[in-house]
Amino acid sequence: MIKKKVLVTGGAGFVGSHLCERLLKDGNDVVCLDNYFTGQKQNIVHLLNNPYFELIRHDVTNPFYIEVDEIYNLACPASPLHYQYNPIKTMKTSVMGAINMLGLAKRVKAKILQASTSEVYGDPQIHPQTESYWGHVNPIGERSCYDEGKRSAETLFVNYHKQNNVRIKIIRIFNTYGPRMHPNDGRVVSNFIVQALQGNDITVYGDGQQTRSFQYVDDLIEGMIRMMATPESFTGPVNIGNPNEFTIMQLAELVIQLTNSKSKIIRMPLPSDDPTQRQPNIDLARKKLNWEPKIQLREGLIQTIQYFADTL
Ligand code: NAD
Ligand code: UDP
Repeated sequence: MIKKKVLVTGGAGFVGSHLCERLLKDGNDVVCLDNYFTGQKQNIVHLLNNPYFELIRHDVTNPFYIEVDEIYNLACPASPLHYQYNPIKTMKTSVMGAINMLGLAKRVKAKILQASTSEVYGDPQIHPQTESYWGHVNPIGERSCYDEGKRSAETLFVNYHKQNNVRIKIIRIFNTYGPRMHPNDGRVVSNFIVQALQGNDITVYGDGQQTRSFQYVDDLIEGMIRMMATPESFTGPVNIGNPNEFTIMQLAELVIQLTNSKSKIIRMPLPSDDPTQRQPNIDLARKKLNWEPKIQLREGLIQTIQYFADTL
């Protein structure tokens, strides 16, 4: 079999490390590029002995030259805490990173997939969200560096495709969790599990009635691989997420139950522009990728709790 050479930007991150693992398992030659802003070597250290895995420290805001067949562009901090730490850098990573990676794809005629996000829908006014919805984003709010950065990246992808025939794929990822989430990145699933395991208070922001739909990382990876393999004419965007929706309070209660924790739930202020509800419509992914999530919340949480119990 001829190995494909695949570049994964953000490959040392939570999602990227699972993607690198899967691409190697499928027999590819994988180059993982990361600046370690939120990623960690620990996430990919087990791959370093594989001769078909290569690790490069690089920042996607600078041009990068390599010969590859496919690019998965994941480089970007994803948790609100991390992407708001340096909003200008977040925007540069999304926009300049997209320009650099699209330029690379154009030069070497590689196929390129963008890890976009449900955040392009902002605080959505239609529910569940379909790909045809344009979104409801505050361009000057706390989340805008991420939301508008990702929206601009989608614009760049679509125009490199129209203007330069670059083969593009856009997926809009909904809240994803699983092993190798950073324990301190502030995202709700990792926060609640770490708090429950350590016997600390569970911090529910606002009244906890806001909703999210949580996808286990293995389902996302399967969706990404399938999207990359779709015919050239299908560019997306396509939603990749688990449509089962939960309130944040329900999540807190489930985590307490599954960890057998004595932690108490406490209320904290709701961050500004926090979306009230979020649920993907995945009809398009079902039709075009023949894909749907297989792992439901309870099962995925058990795996994730085990990971944190082993590593904390
Ligand atoms: P993560 O923070 O664990 O991973 C992002 C990776 O990108 C990290 O390894 C980080 O060091 C790297 N990175 C950041 N800036 C970089 C730069 N300038 N140059 C090179 N590398 C850089 O987050 P994740 O959850 O694994 O997310 C991966 C991708 O998926 C992101 O693009 C994110 O926007 C997207 N996404 C994730 C979710 C989710 O719920 N996990 C949801 C929607 C979209
Ligand atoms: N959240 C919470 N407690 C926490 C962390 C997050 O109640 O300790 C809430 C947050 O306000 C949001 C939801 O959980 O409504 C999901 O937050 P996360 O940062 O994981 O992702 P995003 O808001 O980007 O979907």
